[in-house]
Amino acid sequence: MAALSLERPRLALHVQARVHVADGSPHVVLHDPRTRLVARISLDDWRLLREADGTRDLDALCLAAARLGIDPSEEELVRLFSELDEAGLLADGLAPPLREPPVPAPAPPAPETPLEVLPDFTLTCDGRGACCRFYGSVGFAPLEALRARVAAAELALPLADADLFTPLSGAQIDAPDEPRAVALVDGRCAFLDGGARCALHARGGPYAKPAACRIYPAAYVHDGGAVRASLAPECACVFSSVGRPSGAGLVPEGAATYGALDPAAGLLVVPDPVPLSLHRTAPREALRPWSRAVHDVARRADRDAAGWAWALAQAIEEAGALVDPDRAPCGLEAARPWLAAFREAITAEADAQDAHRGASDLSRVVARWAADALARVDPLAAPAQARDEGFYLAALAFGHRLAIEGRPLCVGLRDRATRILVARAMAAVPAPLDPAAAHPLALVEAATRNLGLAGYAPI
Ligand code: SF4
Repeated sequence: MAALSLERPRLALHVQARVHVADGSPHVVLHDPRTRLVARISLDDWRLLREADGTRDLDALCLAAARLGIDPSEEELVRLFSELDEAGLLADGLAPPLREPPVPAPAPPAPETPLEVLPDFTLTCDGRGACCRFYGSVGFAPLEALRARVAAAELALPLADADLFTPLSGAQIDAPDEPRAVALVDGRCAFLDGGARCALHARGGPYAKPAACRIYPAAYVHDGGAVRASLAPECACVFSSVGRPSGAGLVPEGAATYGALDPAAGLLVVPDPVPLSLHRTAPREALRPWSRAVHDVARRADRDAAGWAWALAQAIEEAGALVDPDRAPCGLEAARPWLAAFREAITAEADAQDAHRGASDLSRVVARWAADALARVDPLAAPAQARDEGFYLAALAFGHRLAIEGRPLCVGLRDRATRILVARAMAAVPAPLDPAAAHPLALVEAATRNLGLAGYAPI
């Protein structure tokens, strides 16, 4: 008689399930970000896993499977759950309640808080959908997902309506306001059509797509004195827009205060004090002029961006305080262990991507491109991409991005110096035939977040 090792199994809450259609074949990828383990299961197995919510034992799972019309044998069911359990992807019994103990939410900025917008930048989208082809988790709020499912009935999508969304983590939606992750077709959002247009936008206008897509690539940060509007430099369009004045603004036309922003736009907050290194902090008000000064120096693009960012971290660490960015020297030899760590992380990720993503999937292509480039080229000897690199650091600094990622500012600076070097190595080898490859730094920035590589940094 077959038996389950767990009495009432469920997918562990930290595991991320994503529906993929790769080279025409649908499947579900289970990713454990703690161990970087990736398991591939069929859609039918995923439907069974959704029934395993921590309340059903083997008998109840067999009945649930029969109701779905899947009807596996008891042995098959036990084998599936045993394999997932051995991989550390399951838990037993009901999930603990998701509700956090009540803590006061940080007060939102007053509507009249001034906006400070990244100077001399407007966005010209190239309409090639690079940003819709790269992210493993495109989140939809419940109402956005519902509207998208209604729209899907009129679109020729390669998936049934019920398989279009998965919970962001685990296999069940536990709270009604939880966002959902959309299915990916060869790494592309399922709603990106054959002409690289958003089918939701084409059908219903900008408010038919998720708020995150509507706002992208703008990023809003409250620093105590103002809300800064900068951007996430993760798309080739961002870099190709530099110096082109006629694109779209990062805030609605005429907006001068926080109250004029889209209410659905997310807002990041600069902590006070700001962690500079493992032992030192600085008051938040000191960051405002410093970030602006870093922006101004970086935008001049008159020095080696990677060496400068690295040396700036060193100078801050030695001084225990924010230092004049214009006076930091350049130096990169100490970057080698960081480069080695990045190479190890991206190579492991490239191998994992090869196993479960289709050949044209941009995430897979980029991971392999970066891994191969770092194996063939010494990034410290590769030519700089001065214009991209200067803009990259300027945009990140203006939006206080280097100081708000849950780690000290010095780590943020060294990490970005390393990413710049990785992009140089990629630019030094033949690029994939994809318009997104025109600006490798955008892809490194996106890949580090999308593929969960940020923890590579040997702090
Ligand atoms: S919903 Fe539309 S804009 Fe958003 S990722 Fe999908 S295709 Fe792109």
